[in-house]
Amino acid sequence: MRRKTLCIQCNTCGSILFRYIKIGKGHLIRCWKNRMIDNTLIQEKNEYYCPCGKLIGTDEKVWIKLKKQQISIN
Ligand SMILES: [Zn+2]
Repeated sequence: MRRKTLCIQCNTCGSILFRYIKIGKGHLIRCWKNRMIDNTLIQEKNEYYCPCGKLIGTDEKVWIKLKKQQISIN
């Protein structure tokens, strides 16, 4: 399987939110928590925020569902 590390940034402030080990093809919509590295997201109840306050995703137990319009992926 193809494997690479992605860098996920906040579109509002430009901060690097976390890095993600992606395996295989396809769009990144759900992030497995155990593949996230250097995570700076702030959790409040079942939501995840950038330190700038922007809502980035929602908690779905083993993964986080990302708000695609709030992030850029490189
Ligand atoms: Zn931000």
